[in-house]
Amino acid sequence: MKAVASIPLSEISRLAIVVTNCSKTLAQVKEERGADYILNGGMWNPDGTPCRGLKVDGKLLSATPWGDLAGYGWDIPRDLAQTTDWQGYDNYIATSPLIVDGKPLEHIPYDSAQGGRRPRSAMGVVGDSLLLYCSSDSITPEQLRDQLADRGCSSAMMLDSGGSTQCDFNGQTIQAERKVHNWICVWVKKEAAPKPPESEEHMGTYRVIPSVGLNIRSGPGTSYGKAGAYACGTVVEVLTIQDGWGQTAKGWVSMAYLEPVEAVQRVTDTGIAIQMDYIPKGRKNRPGGTNPADGASIHETGNFAEGADAAAHASWLKGDDAEAKRISYHYTVDDHSIVQHLPDSETAYHAGDGADGPGNTTTIGIEICVNKDGDFERAKANAASLVRLLMAEHGFPLDKVVQHNHWSGKDCPQTIRATPDGWETFLDLCDGCDLEQTKLEDAVDTLASAGILTAVDYWKGGAYSTSNVHALLKSMAAYVRIQ
Ligand SMILES: [Zn+2]
Repeated sequence: MKAVASIPLSEISRLAIVVTNCSKTLAQVKEERGADYILNGGMWNPDGTPCRGLKVDGKLLSATPWGDLAGYGWDIPRDLAQTTDWQGYDNYIATSPLIVDGKPLEHIPYDSAQGGRRPRSAMGVVGDSLLLYCSSDSITPEQLRDQLADRGCSSAMMLDSGGSTQCDFNGQTIQAERKVHNWICVWVKKEAAPKPPESEEHMGTYRVIPSVGLNIRSGPGTSYGKAGAYACGTVVEVLTIQDGWGQTAKGWVSMAYLEPVEAVQRVTDTGIAIQMDYIPKGRKNRPGGTNPADGASIHETGNFAEGADAAAHASWLKGDDAEAKRISYHYTVDDHSIVQHLPDSETAYHAGDGADGPGNTTTIGIEICVNKDGDFERAKANAASLVRLLMAEHGFPLDKVVQHNHWSGKDCPQTIRATPDGWETFLDLCDGCDLEQTKLEDAVDTLASAGILTAVDYWKGGAYSTSNVHALLKSMAAYVRIQ
């Protein structure tokens, strides 16, 4: 059995480590303290003294943090941060970290007495919420880590395990007889606190305000190391917001120094507007991560069915099939539209070169539709216009535009590859070689349909005599005067 509580930090009135020195049961603690959520806390030695890191209301009870392992520190609930700085907070608890800085630890630090399968408890942070976790099922620390990662924890720490594992989450209980050394207790605000708006609403594009620039940190707080800086005026995309910190492609920045920028409608040079229809966060085919977007990988959908256009793929990507298959990419292009499924700054699963492969983590995945009721030539031209837009936005050159085949050997984009000179022609299209000619031909067609000129092929040819140009100017002037 599992009990899991996710409590928004903003709704917590008090978050405390209650020390009872192995003298009280959970029921007694609940009776005496009236906390809404109680979970067994950290570990202690056979002689009853606490071990690892433990600091309660400013009093240091155990200063033996295990090496330099991250624990949780806080003064007030909203401060709750994963940190090694036990001196910097009034309350601090450190046991075995499971997820640090958004990354599940490959090697979880614990000693043999803690290993193997046993009931487990843990605390973590998901978005702006405290996660309390208690499982009477016997699992390994690694399985516990994976379960918490699946729940979206950006940080997590294993608490005491085995016979200590017990909780009462607002009436949802896992019972044990053991009187443990200390307890994690949470009281929530009693007035009906309005739910904080979903952080999704605040994500988007921002501009850096301070003239001195803005520090980038490796995690959401000043306790995390510096990972660089953004210059004043830099426009950044904020992917996640947590405790007033925004995650960008290069790391975390304080939201206090950012101002929102009106979302700009992106349009390609052929006039196709990019529609956004993102895969929801938390879906397993939206791994997040970062992406420097320094290239593009070109695919074909391989779906020749009627109606298999960009909109159809957008809804498929948001569904269970794509999630189960762990498939995602950034854009689908058909003969009349371009739909974006993920921010350019996120990793996607399209290149077939592994979760950490350069195709998946550094390039933008573009799928071109091959539905039989579509115009594939048009779709390719639209994809080429998207490639030009991305090259301009991200500053990568044409030789960074590659086939899916480049990364995994898959025969994709299949139709283009099967066409003699198909790939070279597509790259020429991306290069805009044909663009000027297309624009000229469109202009000639427009003038022809207005009756201003009749020798369509001559004017599309591009080489003109002076007298013909004069004649054209006169007919255009006559047309304008009549209008
Ligand atoms: Zn492909």
